[in-house]
Amino acid sequence: MQIVSKILIPKNICEGFQGDSFLMEFPCIDCKERVNTDLLNGYNDLEDLIAVNDMSKESVVKQGMAQLRKKIYAYSGLFIVYNNLPAYYKIFLCNNCKNKHIAVFGFGESQPGRNLLYISGVWKIK
Ligand SMILES: [Zn+2]
Repeated sequence: MQIVSKILIPKNICEGFQGDSFLMEFPCIDCKERVNTDLLNGYNDLEDLIAVNDMSKESVVKQGMAQLRKKIYAYSGLFIVYNNLPAYYKIFLCNNCKNKHIAVFGFGESQPGRNLLYISGVWKIK
């Protein structure tokens, strides 16, 4: 996977109730069509990217996608985002020009029944 450029998105932080979808929308940097995706539909653990050798730990940190968790506990992931949220990613396309994107975000419970999602960023990739 190769990072082409970072895409500016209007809003990085969203709160919702359990079961809500988290729709993210932005204009495609090439064709200007609206790209949208529900981040909570079809995402994976960020460390899976490392496992399949698509990215190194170092480049994840360098790109500002996530930070390494200082101390690894059993069943806690390698990466965190924002305020200790476990890090995830989703890859999705522009429906029009088929540009490929990766969104990296942290997601977790902020208080019982309420979820917090923080988007570290969206990148165009090849
Ligand atoms: Zn496009």
